[in-house]
Amino acid sequence: MAISSSVASPLPSCSSVSSLTLRILYCPARIHIATSFSKKSNRGLVYCSVTSQLVVASSRLPARIGRAGRNGDLEFCVVTFYKFVSIENPEGEVLKHQEFLQGRDIHGRIYVNEQGINAQYSGPIEDALAYADWLKEDPRFSDILVQTSPALDGHAFPRLKMRFKPSLVQFEGGMSHLPVLNPTMRATLLTPAEWRERLQASINPFELPNKASGSNHDRRSLLLDVRNGYEWDVGHFQGAERPEVDSFRHTSVGLAGEETATFDLLAGVDKENTDILMYCTGGIRCDVYSTVLRQRGFQNLYTLSGGVSHYLKSEGSAGWVGNLFVFDSRLSLPPSTYNSNLTTNVRSKVVSESERFAKCYICRSRVLEFRHRNCANLDCNRLFLSCGSCVEEFKGCCCSDCTQAPRLRPVLPGHERYQKWHLYRDDDF
Ligand SMILES: [Zn+2]
Ligand SMILES: [Zn+2]
Repeated sequence: MAISSSVASPLPSCSSVSSLTLRILYCPARIHIATSFSKKSNRGLVYCSVTSQLVVASSRLPARIGRAGRNGDLEFCVVTFYKFVSIENPEGEVLKHQEFLQGRDIHGRIYVNEQGINAQYSGPIEDALAYADWLKEDPRFSDILVQTSPALDGHAFPRLKMRFKPSLVQFEGGMSHLPVLNPTMRATLLTPAEWRERLQASINPFELPNKASGSNHDRRSLLLDVRNGYEWDVGHFQGAERPEVDSFRHTSVGLAGEETATFDLLAGVDKENTDILMYCTGGIRCDVYSTVLRQRGFQNLYTLSGGVSHYLKSEGSAGWVGNLFVFDSRLSLPPSTYNSNLTTNVRSKVVSESERFAKCYICRSRVLEFRHRNCANLDCNRLFLSCGSCVEEFKGCCCSDCTQAPRLRPVLPGHERYQKWHLYRDDDF
């Protein structure tokens, strides 16, 4: 039965929610009467007049959640958040979290150490939000930005990994020595609206003029995509160069010294007079990498608060091209997932502008589905973009070498991908 009903305001018997529209989190029937609502948790109980059950509702859900998942009638979502904050006893913290999660249906990666927490997980909405709400009750995490997106096919992660991890983000040499707890070492946060303003001020989308610079004509801004090359391939901010790395952990942009290096976007850049505008999916990679750049003398570092996912939700797809790559089984999401009201279609215009964007990795023709497959060679499993004819010709493999490999899986039709793709990428983020 449909479970996507929403209750239009005003709600009877509940004066405190008169201006809210509630979305029903879980209910087997359509007819509801609100009974109570908590402004603090933004959630309330709703009485279902058909089943005579109390169900949970919330006013802060993504607009597109609204279809039953594979797992029965429950709606699922993916939740992401992170925070750099000193945790004195991370092992004890992990135990507390594990205890809370006991009996709750949460899958994903939740890592804790003395530098903070980094979480991406999926679950039925009630469980998924309950964990985030519980965390926010702790003053250390009360201001954490919790981001949600719908998971229409149920869990987006295979299992739960909730544990201490020496690095909250995979980074060569680890990150325990990086001053991520010091906000002044990290890039300055720009709100999505401020970020959009900076992008729109652009004449040359790559080298952005700095509005604040006034008479200083030498001052420049530079847009830096702090992700992996394959993420850029399905979507990026207009004007951002493709990162020449296959894994963020090996990122070395800005570290090449003063000599001009074609692979390093920041080589030769004036560290005092250039504003570096950095972005990544959810913000954490920029927070980490900006401390590295700061130590290398880059003085004007800015980053998009909450990353691209926060931007798409707040500002829609303005300035954004294609989909957003995500590190779970959904692999990529169109901007409308985050905010269907603000999304504009820029796809066709931008495809023609870029040599690399949305191209088959094998024949370089344009692909229509902005989502990776994984290689049919089990021992390769590489994520790649492929056109329909290359899928056929290369038997679902990423290259001709892989077609000769001993452990080949049968070709999957259409845009399907093999399970366990995460074995390849699981520890990348
Ligand atoms: Zn092709
Ligand atoms: Zn391959």
